[in-house]
Amino acid sequence: MERTLIGDLNKKVGESVLVQGWVSVRRDQGKMVFFDFRDRSGSVQGVVLPKSEAIETAKEVRSEYVVGVEGLVNKRPDKNINPEVQNGDIELEVQKLQVLSKAEIPFELGTETNLDTYLDHLPFTLRSQRAKDIFTMQGAILDAYRSSLRAQGFTEFIAPALVGGDAEGGAAAFKVEYFYDKTAFLATSPQFYKQIMVGPFERAFTVAKIFRAEKSATTRHLSEATCLDFEMGFIKDEREPMAVLEQTIKDTVKVISSAHGEIFTRFGVTVPLIPQSIPIFTLKEAQDIVAKEFNRAIEDTLDMAPEDERQICEYVKKNFGSDFVFITRFPTKKRAFYTYEEPSEAPLSRGFDLLFRGLEINSGAQRIHDPEVLIARMRERGLDPEKFSFYLEAFKVGMPPHGGSSTGLERFTARMLELPNVKEATSFPRDINRIDTLLSTDK
Ligand code: ATP
Ligand code: MG
Repeated sequence: MERTLIGDLNKKVGESVLVQGWVSVRRDQGKMVFFDFRDRSGSVQGVVLPKSEAIETAKEVRSEYVVGVEGLVNKRPDKNINPEVQNGDIELEVQKLQVLSKAEIPFELGTETNLDTYLDHLPFTLRSQRAKDIFTMQGAILDAYRSSLRAQGFTEFIAPALVGGDAEGGAAAFKVEYFYDKTAFLATSPQFYKQIMVGPFERAFTVAKIFRAEKSATTRHLSEATCLDFEMGFIKDEREPMAVLEQTIKDTVKVISSAHGEIFTRFGVTVPLIPQSIPIFTLKEAQDIVAKEFNRAIEDTLDMAPEDERQICEYVKKNFGSDFVFITRFPTKKRAFYTYEEPSEAPLSRGFDLLFRGLEINSGAQRIHDPEVLIARMRERGLDPEKFSFYLEAFKVGMPPHGGSSTGLERFTARMLELPNVKEATSFPRDINRIDTLLSTDK
């Protein structure tokens, strides 16, 4: 018999079918055994009657066993109909039950655990509805983001993960032994490559893996993250990439809220609020607001501290009805060396951050496009322009004024569903102590 997906069973009432999937729940009621079976399309209740030839096997089968079930699709009697659940009006009367694979589980799926236990058992816990919801949402964000950028004239390219040098000097890079006696690095950002791609395409984007040896354990940092990066040519200033980013965020939120409203409901969170225009504050304005509204001193006036980010978001939500806020005019020296300085407000830059529900999810800027200025800036920062000759060639051969930004996919997903830790929004997170399993400290 051909397999029928559980999601299609309601069209097969009165027919015999073959279903294949996992056992989510087994309820042994003595004479009869009830199951919830699930496959990629959903779940259905099964019942094994005392007279069924499957009754012996039904007694052996446990949660997460992989099974093939032949049975009859029956309408449930009115009193047993549950309109709240999928297939709540039908039931699969099991006639044959074949075990395709046995299972031994650490705890019942969906049990609330702490994050470490969840991560220790990812091959199992990723099957939970919660995890499936998170990664369904993440996939949808990725699709929507890509479509929006394509619609805005951007071409996607693949950025390399292995690079010859630590591009930005700032973020700690992982070193890789590269053939015999050479050293390479894992990319901390696709920055140089997306700027180079402005040459062929004017507007380019990439979904890139970035690797950062973040030494502190925080709820916002991973050692391996995914960035949605774009870069665009012929801009007047940073407001143009900010507008593209805003459009992309709006398109993404619109698509996922209409396609996956039920996930927001299951997580008990609202669809993000975005007004006509996302509010924009300079760093100074934002910190002045936070100091006044929350009656406290700002420790670092050169950058946003995590607490500043949380509080400005709280203020903006209350006063502007927005879950997003842009922060601009960071000091040039606090940004990457290629950041364009605002001539009328030096030493402030044309860099910006986008905060979402209390957390930075994106950084961007207009970039320096004049190679002489770029080389001078490298020297000021103690970087050797010789080492950047590959990157610099893009500027020597003619580069328009340009800028772009980078959104962390895991942070975006985490804030979308208000997950407290970015690791929950990462299918296989890597951090200082863990690559799948906990790392041993032995050499
Ligand atoms: P932070 O100040 O929070 O450490 P950053 O300013 O160093 O972040 P950027 O270099 O601006 O990060 O990277 C662009 C975006 O990529 C960030 O806004 C964030 O969403 C994401 N990102 C960067 N580093 C990480 C990381 N280690 N883990 C998860 N996401 C990251
Ligand atoms: Mg940043």
